[in-house]
Amino acid sequence: MNAFKEDTNWSCHAYASRFVFEEEGKMRSGIEFEVIQSSKVAAFLKRDKAMALDSQDESYIDLLNHYLEHGADHEMFYQKKLAYFGNEETIYYLTIWFDVPAEAEQIVITDWYLLVEGGNYDYQLVPFMGDEPIAYGKCSIYLANQQDRETLNKLMSIRSLEGKNVNANRALNGEWIQAIDQNTLFWGATVYYVGAALCVGLLSAAYSVALGCLVPHQTEAYFDFGYKSGNNSGNAYVRANSNKAVANLAIISQDLINTPAKTVILSHWHNDHICLVRQINGNHNYDAFWAQSTWLVPQTAAPVANIVAHNLNLYGGTMTVLPNVYPANNQVYNVYNNPNLILGKIDAFDPALLAGRHPHHHGIYARINLINSLNVLQYQQMLLVGDCTYSGIPNVQKNDCAYLQVCHHGGDYALPPCAQNPVVNSLYIPTPKNDPNYRYAFYSANGVTHGHPNANIMGRHNAMGWTAPWRTDRALTGRLVVTYNHIYDV
Ligand SMILES: [Zn+2]
Ligand SMILES: [Zn+2]
Repeated sequence: MNAFKEDTNWSCHAYASRFVFEEEGKMRSGIEFEVIQSSKVAAFLKRDKAMALDSQDESYIDLLNHYLEHGADHEMFYQKKLAYFGNEETIYYLTIWFDVPAEAEQIVITDWYLLVEGGNYDYQLVPFMGDEPIAYGKCSIYLANQQDRETLNKLMSIRSLEGKNVNANRALNGEWIQAIDQNTLFWGATVYYVGAALCVGLLSAAYSVALGCLVPHQTEAYFDFGYKSGNNSGNAYVRANSNKAVANLAIISQDLINTPAKTVILSHWHNDHICLVRQINGNHNYDAFWAQSTWLVPQTAAPVANIVAHNLNLYGGTMTVLPNVYPANNQVYNVYNNPNLILGKIDAFDPALLAGRHPHHHGIYARINLINSLNVLQYQQMLLVGDCTYSGIPNVQKNDCAYLQVCHHGGDYALPPCAQNPVVNSLYIPTPKNDPNYRYAFYSANGVTHGHPNANIMGRHNAMGWTAPWRTDRALTGRLVVTYNHIYDV
C-alpha cells in the first residue's frame, strides 16, 4: 500500500467526500475522495477466500474468514475490522480536478467510485498522515457497481463504542475522568483560526474564592476538530496567517496532553472538521486522549472515520454514533444531563433523495449556555452548526441565540435549499436574540480560499439581524473567546 505512488497500475475504491476548490493555478472545481487501495478490499467484495491465500497477514486472513462466515454485521467482525480498515497508513485523500465545473457535480457525494491510474482527469494524492501531495497524475473514474457500493458501505460503517474506560470501578478509583458532568458550567467558547477548517473549544467555569466570581477553568470539549496551517496554500494572504494557525495547533495539542479527558462533538466527518487527527495520530503523547475522550458523531461509512474509531477502540475511549433518521426525530440531547450543553441531529432531507445523502444534511448541531460569571442563573446562548444546514434545526432550538457560529464557514453553500435562492435561504438563517447587544455572528474563515467568508452570505446574515461579523482570520492572535457579555480577541 505504501507503494501507491510508485505503482503505475493502481486502482482504488474511493468514497466521494466533498467538493473542493483549487487554491492556485487553474482554480478548478474538484472532488476530494477518501480512498483505500482496491487490493485491500478486493477479497471482501468478491467474497473470495482464495484471493488471500498468498497473504502473510494472518489478521487479514482471519478477518476475511470471519466476514465470509458471519457477515459484516457481527460485533466481533466490527472489532477486528477497525484495525484492518482503520489503519492510517493505508488511507489517502485523493482529489480530482475537473476542467468543466459541471463534471464535478456529476459525482454523487457519499457514493463509492473506482479510480484507475491513467485517463483524462488530473488527480493529486495526499496520505492521511501528511499535508503534502505525494503524487500527481491522470486517472479514470467509474461508479462502483451497486453490490460493491453496498458492501463498501457495510465494511466502512462505524458504530458506537462503549469504551473500555467506562467502568464503575475505574471511575471510583479516579482513573476515568469524564470531561463534562451535569453540573459543568461554561465560561466561554474559543473559536480558533485553523485555516480553511473549523475548531471551537468549549471552556468550563470554576468559582474563584479570591475574586468571588466564576473564572475560566479549562477546555472540556471541542466542537469540530479541524486544523490546516494554510502554509501550503497558493494564496499569500492565507500563508501570512499561517503562523496564527500554527500557534493555535500548539495550544490545542498541549491542551489534549494536559487534560486528555475531552468530549469531542463532530458536526460531520469532512476533512476540514476532523483533520486535527492527522496532526496527533500515532503520537504516543496522545494515548491518554484516545483513552479518555468521548466522541459524539454522526453516522457515516467512510474510511477516515475508521481511523478515529480504531484509535478509540484500541486505547479505550468512547464513541456515540447518532444515526441518520428520516423523517427527523428532532430529539434534543443534554450532554451528560448537563442543561448547559445540548446537541441535536440534523436530518434535513430524505436519504432516498440525492440531497438527503449529503453530510451537511445529516450532521450534528450544538448549543451552549455561556454563564454570567457574577450570576449563575444568567446565560447567553451560542449556536454551533459546523457546515450543517440551518434548515434541519428546529426553530425552537436555533432561534433567539446571542451568538452564532455561521454555517459552512460563511461560505456559499453549494446545495439546495441554500445558495440558489437568497429569499429561501434567509428563511433558514436563525433569528438572533431581540437585543442589539447580543446578536453576533462568527465566521471560521481563512479569508480567501473556498470563498470563506462570502460577502453575499455575510450580507444575508446581516439582513437577518446578525451584527458585527467576527472573523477568525481577522482575529489579532487567531482566537476569539466568546463569553456571556464580552468577546475577547486574545
Ligand atoms: Zn463540510
Ligand atoms: Zn467545512
